[in-house]
Amino acid sequence: MSVEFEKAWEDRKSIAQAWKNNGGKVVGTFNSLIPEELICAAGILPIEIISLDKSIANSRKYLPEFLCPYLKDCLEQALAGDLEYLDGAAVSHACESLRGFYGVWRKNAGLPEPFFLQIPATAGEGAKHYFILELRLFGKYLEGIAGKPITTDALHRAIEEANENRQMLKRLYTAREQKGSPISGSDVVNVIKARLVLPIARHTDMLKEYLDRVDAAPVDAERDERVRLTIIGNCVLESAAVSQAAEEAGARIVADNLCYGLRLCWETVDDAGDPMDAIARHYLTKIPCPGKFPMETLANKLSDIVVKSGSEGMIWIIDKFCDPYLFQYPMLLDAIREKEIKLLSLEDGDIKNTGRLKLKLEAFVEMIQSDELVY
Ligand code: SF4
Repeated sequence: MSVEFEKAWEDRKSIAQAWKNNGGKVVGTFNSLIPEELICAAGILPIEIISLDKSIANSRKYLPEFLCPYLKDCLEQALAGDLEYLDGAAVSHACESLRGFYGVWRKNAGLPEPFFLQIPATAGEGAKHYFILELRLFGKYLEGIAGKPITTDALHRAIEEANENRQMLKRLYTAREQKGSPISGSDVVNVIKARLVLPIARHTDMLKEYLDRVDAAPVDAERDERVRLTIIGNCVLESAAVSQAAEEAGARIVADNLCYGLRLCWETVDDAGDPMDAIARHYLTKIPCPGKFPMETLANKLSDIVVKSGSEGMIWIIDKFCDPYLFQYPMLLDAIREKEIKLLSLEDGDIKNTGRLKLKLEAFVEMIQSDELVY
């Protein structure tokens, strides 16, 4: 049901090129903690750089072996000349690996100067004050690329546009949970992938049309019999493979917590007063990334999401060498054990090997159906 979104993702280079042909600029972002409202207010198209799961032979020469595959993959794309359309890049301080990666990218990616956005790990008043100063520096960087100032009106408009998109995405997430919903996990992944490369207003229009089609579609009663699962993880492409394997194993993905999934849309920016203040508040208090404190906040929010969606099991995708996600693991385990939710954890090796992934998913679904304990 979501082929137009899949097509937009495949056409991402031509979309960026068309934007540039019209005199626009394009900035790549790393992680959903980069406030895209600022980039849009500067009239720039933000494009999220994500792992494409290709060879990482060249980036290994520049990055330590113990860095996560996601960052190796991103540098590989730059070294291969696949990101030449970028006029800049914003690297967020979502974890310590990204901090080191920024320096390597800056020296070796062969692309215009990137910006490193410091993001406080806590959300108090002091942290917000500091973050606003950082956002102002980021704004200056973007103004340099755009060649024009970011006005307060443009910021309010960008917040409104992003909020409208979040509301549509939330409608999609809510519809997926409903009984007999025809929306599969793969449909949601396609919608999200398109969101990473399209101008936000265009994505919102496509999503409205898609949701109208979903509302008019007949109820799919067979899907109600399926085991309900939530996916938790980082990369949207890995979750695509897992969603498909889960559906083939007779399950149904009803919720997620992905960097660019639910974490992107669950809360809107409260645009009251100064827009910089509103953006800072939002990014410091939205559902956090695993590297943020207190760490229990994420574990508790995740277990609430899983319970609310009626999921019987949870699939946790862990990128190799990703410390923030691994640190979260014991806390999440405690939180979901209390709620008697079953957990399957998968690493990159499990996901790249199609046969192994299929077997693991089938076994997991069977264990839930037979009510066996899985941790
Ligand atoms: S959070 Fe994990 S996957 Fe993301 S950049 Fe950091 S180490 Fe890599």
